[in-house]
Amino acid sequence: MNEVDLLFISAHPDDTELSCGGTIVRAVKDGLRVGLLDLTRGEMGTRGTPAIRKREASASARILGASFREQLDFHDGGLLTGPDQERELIDIVRITRPRLIFTPYPDDRHPDHTRAGRLVTESSFYAGLKSLKTKYDAHRPQATIYYIQNYQRPVSFVVDVTAAWKTKMRAIAAFKSQFHNPNSKEPQTFIARPEFIEMIEARGRHFGEFIGARYGEAFVTKQPPRVDDVIAAYRGREV
Ligand SMILES: [Zn+2]
Repeated sequence: MNEVDLLFISAHPDDTELSCGGTIVRAVKDGLRVGLLDLTRGEMGTRGTPAIRKREASASARILGASFREQLDFHDGGLLTGPDQERELIDIVRITRPRLIFTPYPDDRHPDHTRAGRLVTESSFYAGLKSLKTKYDAHRPQATIYYIQNYQRPVSFVVDVTAAWKTKMRAIAAFKSQFHNPNSKEPQTFIARPEFIEMIEARGRHFGEFIGARYGEAFVTKQPPRVDDVIAAYRGREV
């Protein structure tokens, strides 16, 4: 792991791609360093194995242009959130020193997403406490930003990912064992239905429409983002 500008943390491999893939591609193109961290290996998945998912996750990270992808072992299905996990995350925040952290909103259909969102929010704050001593210097990111998964909630801002959309979908397709594949003999799952990828496409179009773009990715923050150029913020909404 190295220092990054943006750190994307997910409960399971592929969560980040589905919700933030375009934002990552765009950030990398703009010269920012992006790191990916999966809190679990996705070992409870119906299809594939942890080894297959690890290979797929590495392939996806290369497509996105991430400078690293790490996987922790916080247990898929019953994600652990005790003091050991908190300390591990505090050190990762201190080593990678991100300016922003992206993570699931701490209330979602999958309890692992809820737990991940809460654990990451709290660890990010604690990482900035100078009197909390670990091997690494204290570091506090500017903010923790939440990406949208199953439950919908009021959007705080939308990133235009039109130019990045095809690359995002290629990154998602790298998870061959998880999503629709007509040749697969594995059991059907919620996310392996062809309708699931159609929903991701539709969601991108839906959020894009909010900002007058073809595709968008939406995010939620507990504090509103500062806007320095209000006119630019609404460019494209003239019609
Ligand atoms: Zn997940």
